[in-house]
Amino acid sequence: TACTPTRDEAVDRPMPTPPEPSKETMRIEDLTIGFSMDTLQEDRWHKDRTLFKQAVENAGAEVLIEVANGDDAKQVWQTEKMIDKGIDVLVVVPHNAESMAAIVERAHDANIKVLSYDRLVRNAEVDFYISYDNEQVGTLQAEAMTAIVPEGNYVYIGGAETDYNAHLLKKGVFDVLQPYIERGDIRVVFDDWTKDWVLQYAKENMQLALEANLEQIDAVIAGNDATAGAAIETIEKYGLERTIPVAGQDADLAGIKRIVSGTQRFTVYKSIDKLTERAVELAIQLAMGEDIVQDKTINNGKINVPSILLSPVLVNQSNITETVIVDGFHQEADIYGP
Ligand code: BGC
Repeated sequence: TACTPTRDEAVDRPMPTPPEPSKETMRIEDLTIGFSMDTLQEDRWHKDRTLFKQAVENAGAEVLIEVANGDDAKQVWQTEKMIDKGIDVLVVVPHNAESMAAIVERAHDANIKVLSYDRLVRNAEVDFYISYDNEQVGTLQAEAMTAIVPEGNYVYIGGAETDYNAHLLKKGVFDVLQPYIERGDIRVVFDDWTKDWVLQYAKENMQLALEANLEQIDAVIAGNDATAGAAIETIEKYGLERTIPVAGQDADLAGIKRIVSGTQRFTVYKSIDKLTERAVELAIQLAMGEDIVQDKTINNGKINVPSILLSPVLVNQSNITETVIVDGFHQEADIYGP
């Protein structure tokens, strides 16, 4: 009949493309968000996992969560598995900033957008980045420390070199210290990374610093509360706790307890509630193909990644109540209890 094309006509015609699910008809209830985490080693990541899941479920979507326990190869295959299962967007906390670049490409090949969460994936076309302002975390630590120790021997216990946050933190710290160093008021007598954020290395580094300087250390700034706690354990062996002020970040329960008891002087609080809430909103927008207007960007070595950087808050003995307790980040009874 007239409607049946001849063989030649059929060949000439463009192949019908399989129907793409139209973005307008995409419903939140149909979305699955993949959340690839590096670790649950620190307190905070348990909160990230729980609150992320809750936020996704409150929005009515579904979530798949995998934790790689610090293993790059595992994080790659866990993420590939999620992509194969048909997630609609990938949210990733890379263990290794560089190694996860390949996964961003894999996701894009499958038409899946990627949101870098808390830690930036480097050298990849990441679609969006959400975190706390890590440079500001370092700045807050160093401003607080220089206010009480304007001169003397400083020790810097850095984070994992493979975590780009550790570089940003360090930059924030050293930007503040630099004029003090130039004036000769502050000497940085020890400065090293803590491989994979492993506490044993932080302890060993603190030991090296104390030995090399005949215990003449006046201040310690650490990449997070876990490494601060490790440094303090070493300092305790020398009986110098409460003499050497130590700064960390995360407002871990153990860190806050040390602030109350006086062995740690400062921490930096980052509400995980706020982070997960914003991240899930963004993930949904990315999955729905919405354009997200964002002026702020961070260069990741390849592109300027549109970024949202939330503001961290310095915590010391005097503002524990109005920060972590009021927010419900920790319960008063857990902080002051046995
Ligand atoms: C996070 C910190 C955390 C550290 C170790 C960093 O990238 O920003 O909050 O303590 O990783 O897991």
